[in-house]
Amino acid sequence: MSALAKRRLARFGHTDVASYQRFAGLEPDGVLGPITDRSILAPRCGCSDVLAIRDRSGQCAWKRSDFPVAYWVDSRLPRAIRESVAPAFALWESVAAVSFRQVRNRTEARWLITPARIDRAGGILADQELPCGQETREAIRMRLDTHETWTLSAGDRGRILALNVIAHEIGHGLGIAHISPAKGRALMNPTYDPRLALPQELDIAEAVERYGTAAKPPAGGRPPALLEFAARLQWSEGTGWTLTDSFVQS
Ligand SMILES: [Zn+2]
Repeated sequence: MSALAKRRLARFGHTDVASYQRFAGLEPDGVLGPITDRSILAPRCGCSDVLAIRDRSGQCAWKRSDFPVAYWVDSRLPRAIRESVAPAFALWESVAAVSFRQVRNRTEARWLITPARIDRAGGILADQELPCGQETREAIRMRLDTHETWTLSAGDRGRILALNVIAHEIGHGLGIAHISPAKGRALMNPTYDPRLALPQELDIAEAVERYGTAAKPPAGGRPPALLEFAARLQWSEGTGWTLTDSFVQS
């Protein structure tokens, strides 16, 4: 096994190759062949596949009184990320009873969206702290790797779609752990998938279990961020919701 693959297995909470293979829905033969190796080394989220998603008070989640949760976006982040944050939060608002608001003052925020030097390009794209486990913490942090080339456009091959990654990390910030690819296709699968930007059935179930279903859309229709999406989303039976194009007017 390559030293890198070995380090990655440990980092993501797997004790051996077979444990990873079972989680990833691969043949659990315990052998690090090319398929398993490619899967382990594929671009992905830096959070462990084995997260403690419960704390002393029960499930890992924000309290009802925490909403709308104030978030702050570091202005040093590239534009593709800065412009994807609000739509990504809006996606979760559309599927569960959660709400968010952006603040300009970092000290008012309980959720920080920040750049970080995590590793080289590819590898780990981002990570996110959970809203439980460290009761004294004032704000949770999402870190996005500055070594990636981030993009807004689904047609921009070879670059990383900021919306997909941020929407995934927000799932962790809501208390949701990785969903095993063996269970099904989900935004909360650990590996980056350019076709997956929206919470899928398994993701929505996790969010609704914690927060209940989304409130009715505001009078006058859906939030503007979701209207932005609507024209660029495509549904297909095999792949679920996918973005067909850049969702921001250039
Ligand atoms: Zn993740």
